[in-house]
Amino acid sequence: MRIREIHIYQVDLPVGGKPYRMSAGTYASLDSTVVEVVSDGGVSGWGETCPVGPTYQPEHARGARAALEEMAPHLVGHTVTGPLAVRHAMEDLLNGHNYAKAALDIAVHDLVGKTYGIRVCDLLGGAVTDRVDSYYALTVDDPDEVAREAVERIGEGYPRLQIKVGGRPVELDIETIRKVWEATGCTRLAVDANRALTTRDTLRIGRECADIPLILEQPCATMEEIAAIRGQLHHPVYLDECTESLSSVIRAISLGVCDGFGLKVTRFGGLGAMAAVRDVCASRSMPHTCDDTWGGDILAAACVHIGATVQSRLLDGVWIAGSHMDVHYDSTHPVRVDGGRIEVPTGPGLGVVPDEGVLGEPVASFG
Ligand SMILES: [Mg+2]
Repeated sequence: MRIREIHIYQVDLPVGGKPYRMSAGTYASLDSTVVEVVSDGGVSGWGETCPVGPTYQPEHARGARAALEEMAPHLVGHTVTGPLAVRHAMEDLLNGHNYAKAALDIAVHDLVGKTYGIRVCDLLGGAVTDRVDSYYALTVDDPDEVAREAVERIGEGYPRLQIKVGGRPVELDIETIRKVWEATGCTRLAVDANRALTTRDTLRIGRECADIPLILEQPCATMEEIAAIRGQLHHPVYLDECTESLSSVIRAISLGVCDGFGLKVTRFGGLGAMAAVRDVCASRSMPHTCDDTWGGDILAAACVHIGATVQSRLLDGVWIAGSHMDVHYDSTHPVRVDGGRIEVPTGPGLGVVPDEGVLGEPVASFG
């Protein structure tokens, strides 16, 4: 099988209801990039990458499209023996830019799956479930409003909540955490600062919420800051933004700076790299989530497929942006949270095919 064509699409994904606010910024709409890889047999594989704004990570939407345009002409005509070989080809074409490579990697997984009639989760080692737990991210807001929404989401069936903090006085964050805990009694709480807290404020949250069984997710910007206060914290610590590669995950585990991870498919460069991280986590019994920064049905399906391959004792849930918006590329098989859980798509590949015309015309085509 060879790659015959590559098409790049740009899609705006409006956030439903109130804007999505985290420490790095507030977003009412996200700029997503969808990639279609067409084989010489006429089968299309779909991939996607969608940075959550330009300040969350060293990546931005137009950067993704520029990187894809750099690689795509050289990949047309390339023989596809499997996703790993295409990943090696991408490494030979461009240094870095994992988030752009991820879109092609996901598309190639989908293409191989659709060509051979295999689901992506089974390509990745085999699903251990047909339904994964999700969790809900409560955005930065007034403490009473966050607590009110927390009760609503628990009522919908979410088994886990994440409370976004940071970017404002820590007193407000502590008040929010306490009110959510008192209103829900949810024992699967993650407090995610997305790197925004000082070590001083992290220690204060630890002290003033000592009675709450929460996880501190990426409280500070660097592993060094977290390592410096690790001995003074008694809450489990997860890393998210610090996990930029398999190597950084191995380093974090070796240093003992964390108890688990929030993992992003596109940050690692796609599903193949994510599967390697999954296996390293399994070897050291490190629980983790399977998420991405944002995205439509294609990225959501990718997260669900890898999540379905994780041992249930280590899967802390799959977060998809679909819980914050009403947009779907595939109206027949949308990927959505129902009762706090997500069904693993049953069709070949990702099990998702964008509706005719939903993506508009490609912004760039090769082949
Ligand atoms: Mg996180």
